[in-house]
Amino acid sequence: MFYFAISVFRFSNQEALMEEIFDGSFTQQEPISEIAISAALKVLRSGRLHRYNVIEGEVSETTLLEEEFARLIGSKYSLAVASGGYAMGCALRAIGVKAGDFVLSNAFTLAPVPGAIAGVGAQPIFVDTVDNLTIDLEDLELKIKSSSSKVLLLSHMRGHICDMDKLMAICNLHEIKVIEDCAHTMGASWAGIPSGRHGVIGCYSSQTYKHLNSGEGGLLVTDDDEIIARAIILSGSYMLYQQHRSIPDSAIFEEIKLQTPNISGRMDNLRAAILRPQLSDLSDRVFRWNERYKVIEEGLRNVPIIKIIERSENESYVGSSLQFEIPKTSGNQIELFLNGCMNRGVELKWFGASVPKAFTSKYDSWAYVEPQELANTDRILSGLIDMRLPLTFSLKDCQIIARIISSEAMKLSRV
Ligand SMILES: *Cc1c(COP(=O)(O)O)cnc(C)c1O
Repeated sequence: MFYFAISVFRFSNQEALMEEIFDGSFTQQEPISEIAISAALKVLRSGRLHRYNVIEGEVSETTLLEEEFARLIGSKYSLAVASGGYAMGCALRAIGVKAGDFVLSNAFTLAPVPGAIAGVGAQPIFVDTVDNLTIDLEDLELKIKSSSSKVLLLSHMRGHICDMDKLMAICNLHEIKVIEDCAHTMGASWAGIPSGRHGVIGCYSSQTYKHLNSGEGGLLVTDDDEIIARAIILSGSYMLYQQHRSIPDSAIFEEIKLQTPNISGRMDNLRAAILRPQLSDLSDRVFRWNERYKVIEEGLRNVPIIKIIERSENESYVGSSLQFEIPKTSGNQIELFLNGCMNRGVELKWFGASVPKAFTSKYDSWAYVEPQELANTDRILSGLIDMRLPLTFSLKDCQIIARIISSEAMKLSRV
């Protein structure tokens, strides 16, 4: 009865007693711009879609994309590849991870991360999670000491960045090489340093749901001469690597080119053509994502049952998705809440579900990995809710979404 009264009060300026419904799509990205479409048409009309298929004097779209991406992120080198997952596998191989090795990684991440480790025949060792959803640095140090691992594949999962200064101090002390998974942090930074520039390699994705959209695609960055040479050969450059504009001395290629397998995973010119105009829009997109993120975050901040994930002042993030916690609540209650939101058009995902759904799965659902126990990750994920924030949502849409989530959460607190 009490809830009913609040509901009437809240929506008194709307249609009497009708519960607000949202009709936008949580999976609808913005269209590809006309500039990008024209660039794509130019490639299609040329017929030269393969990145190494150039005519005299021509520099391929893929090569230009690499150059522009390296400039944007501030790295010496960049390589464009077929996907973010491929970039991570290529990075692991390029730094010498072999079958049977152990690779440290976040327990809170998505399936392509342990998948990249398994793809090179290595075993993930999961590191626990702290309350702000980043890697547990104490647990990291323990696991470095208790394992023979020399590599950390660090996932900036859902865009949450840990204290990178502390992390790098720990990893440097123990001579651990860091590969950064920046699928959710392209355009983000820690203390002014772009995400992907702390470790020896940074990996990015341009899959439709990430910060650039070419359907599929990936990029990696590094400053290391030998790593980029290996990565270029690995990605399937045959002996055409000289077409890359920014490459190390050819002596390095001479040394490694016949020792390094070709594991084809190139990007093509069509995707690169679509991506280049998007690169120049990235900072504008980041601004718009964060505007939307802040509207929803503000709308949820005072709901007693909801815990906002706090961000460090050093973190400049990209709010392309939003997470919040409903701590200490049973699974049944959370299912009720999710269904309540869903019935009003707000599609949320829950990391605590016992069976993986859509993109959301949990470390213990990757049954090909040795079973491991991570108490804090379990506790956090059992109440962790996840929401996409596509740029097709207006700020008004975000207000509606926040109101619906709040009102469904209020119902929950009264059950
Ligand atoms: C999407 C994603 C990747 C890999 O990207 P793909 O391009 O889809 O292979 C890697 N890590 C995380 C956390 C992701 O969400």
